[in-house]
Amino acid sequence: MTDIANKPRRILVTSALPYANGAIHLGHLVEYIQTDIWVRFQRMQGHEIHYVGADDTHGTPVMLRADSEGITPKQLIARVWQEHDRDFKSFGVSFDNYYTTDSPENEALCAEIYKKLDDGKLIATRSVEQFYDPVKQMFLPDRYIKGECPKCGAKDQYGDSCEVCGATYAPTDLKNPYSTVSGAKPERRQSEHYFFRLSHESCEKFLREFTQKSGALQPEAANKMKEWLGEPGDSKLSDWDISRDAPYFGFPIPGTDGKKFFYVWLDAPVGYFSSFLNYVKKEQAKGRKIDADAFLKPGGNTELIHFIGKDILYFHALFWPAMLQHAGFRTPTRVYAHGFLTVNGEKMSKSRGTFITAESYIQQGLNPEWLRYYYAAKLNSTMEDLDLNLDDFVARVNSDLVGKYVNIASRCAGFVTKLFDGRVTNQGLFEYGSESRGIKSDSLIKEFADKAPEIARLYDSREYGKALREIMALTDRANQWIDDIKPWELAKTPGEHKRLRLICSVGLNLFRTLTLYLKPVIPGMARNVEQFLNIPELKWNDASKVLADNHEIRPYSHLMTRVDAKQIAALIEANKENLQMTTAPTPSAVTATAAPATTGPATISIDDFTKIDLRIAKIANAEHVEGADKLLKLTLDVGSLGTKQVFAGIKAAYDPETLKGRLTVVVANLAPRKMKFGMSEGMVLAASGDTPGLYLLSPDSGAQPGMRIK
Ligand SMILES: [Zn+2]
Repeated sequence: MTDIANKPRRILVTSALPYANGAIHLGHLVEYIQTDIWVRFQRMQGHEIHYVGADDTHGTPVMLRADSEGITPKQLIARVWQEHDRDFKSFGVSFDNYYTTDSPENEALCAEIYKKLDDGKLIATRSVEQFYDPVKQMFLPDRYIKGECPKCGAKDQYGDSCEVCGATYAPTDLKNPYSTVSGAKPERRQSEHYFFRLSHESCEKFLREFTQKSGALQPEAANKMKEWLGEPGDSKLSDWDISRDAPYFGFPIPGTDGKKFFYVWLDAPVGYFSSFLNYVKKEQAKGRKIDADAFLKPGGNTELIHFIGKDILYFHALFWPAMLQHAGFRTPTRVYAHGFLTVNGEKMSKSRGTFITAESYIQQGLNPEWLRYYYAAKLNSTMEDLDLNLDDFVARVNSDLVGKYVNIASRCAGFVTKLFDGRVTNQGLFEYGSESRGIKSDSLIKEFADKAPEIARLYDSREYGKALREIMALTDRANQWIDDIKPWELAKTPGEHKRLRLICSVGLNLFRTLTLYLKPVIPGMARNVEQFLNIPELKWNDASKVLADNHEIRPYSHLMTRVDAKQIAALIEANKENLQMTTAPTPSAVTATAAPATTGPATISIDDFTKIDLRIAKIANAEHVEGADKLLKLTLDVGSLGTKQVFAGIKAAYDPETLKGRLTVVVANLAPRKMKFGMSEGMVLAASGDTPGLYLLSPDSGAQPGMRIK
């Protein structure tokens, strides 16, 4: 049916690089889980596969975030790297190397690529007019400028489009523009920028071939590229601005005296290769030789596969391959783009508590393999969005994994352990048969094994949802068969024990095959099953094997618990808490979008306002909370109301020592909330905006703890 398993492949696989400015959330995980399942499947085939990633570390958002936290960008990216690495490991994302774009390998490779493009006359310079913040003394990216819409006059609109009337325009069109970094009125200044000449005929010719004929893109992506490229002879490609002015956190462009830096989007994809080179070096130190050139240079008989979100297709289908082609490197074999995550049919939202971080999911005690299974069940090879419906999540995990799959083992293993010393048999497996519904045990085992090529084809083509439907149909077959034979009744009659042993052995063999098929999706579970069945690591071509006669299994212990809907409710609550723990705006490079900030709540009456008991509080004590990244524990003196303990998401902005003794404002009648670290009995007030930074409120001097604010 397919020769997937027979043709040895050598594959370098990447997932898009998460930006080093915020937490990994469930939207990011769609991609990492999708890639990891594919990688694990290929490893089970025995192919040579290398899976690398890195944090995307450069650019203005990281620079400003570090600035607002009072640390250097390098300190910020080192901390975020630890968090990202931890989150990926929690969800079983099995990178062979997880690195950073802020590396010597990446700097050298960027310089090399730039030089080749320059030598090929594909770099041009020209003067660009841009906004400049005279207070911060820096050029401002569009997203850091706001002003009045030139069309409808709406205030506080971004530099590229109006959220009120939908008009799009250039930042220089805004009326009364201001810098969101300092609030200053920006000046227009000229600056010389460096461009990659994407409009050059050589790039155009290559890109038409690459996007339409090479098979590198999904059909819908190829169509999109056709629109972007325009008609031959009437190309819509324009040159790509690859430079930014100092101050900028990134790599200086060679030959510019540190005045110009590579735009973060130039060095980010190069980070795929530099992470791979770093990995090759580390493996070499362990005595393993990987031929790096075979993967990075043309003609190496290897594959380069990028998994990305559809929002960054432009970079991966145009800029990146054109750069590689003209710098003497190999181009991508396939670019697999996926859609965005929605939760309960809507965009992830902080106010609804559906902007769920990877960390909070783990902290709430949810099993990461539940999410891996659910995503896999909904993933296919298209760019469609994927919906995490939380009720469906609970129902599907409980029904498929616990109710059907694990059930097979729990129905068979106990008898084998209790009655047969834990030893299975295959005596008579292929001649005796256990007839039920006309199915003999041997034909059932064969039927399961025969599905291996079809399920392999579905995994390889990223049709995971279809693969899991095939696998779940098999679990239904196995359960029906057991239902019909009723081993628990055979167990009551000693004369039937020989038959019972055979039937339970068949059940465990079927369970073994199902585990093999599910292994790319739920690798932790598969490892536990391998231990329980006392077998070596399952490989794909083990599908046609059976447990040896008299093979001894280990006593069965519970393999997976059910999801409790209460855990999901708690997860949503915990992420609502995150509201106060403001994070910086996510850059365009991430693959999930937050709902746009609302312009403000509806009006309320004075009666509504007086329901809020605002009080002056003195911060009697402030301390770090063990295990909490964002929270400080505050002990507040609220005068006549006594003391209150409050957990506040202000750790990024304040050193607890500097808070002790200062006055602030507390919502004193907020219902107490049980948080992971203890009870929080109020909320302190802080201001934050679209740019990084968090500012605790303070009263004028003379205010006393306990005074009411009205
Ligand atoms: Zn407008």
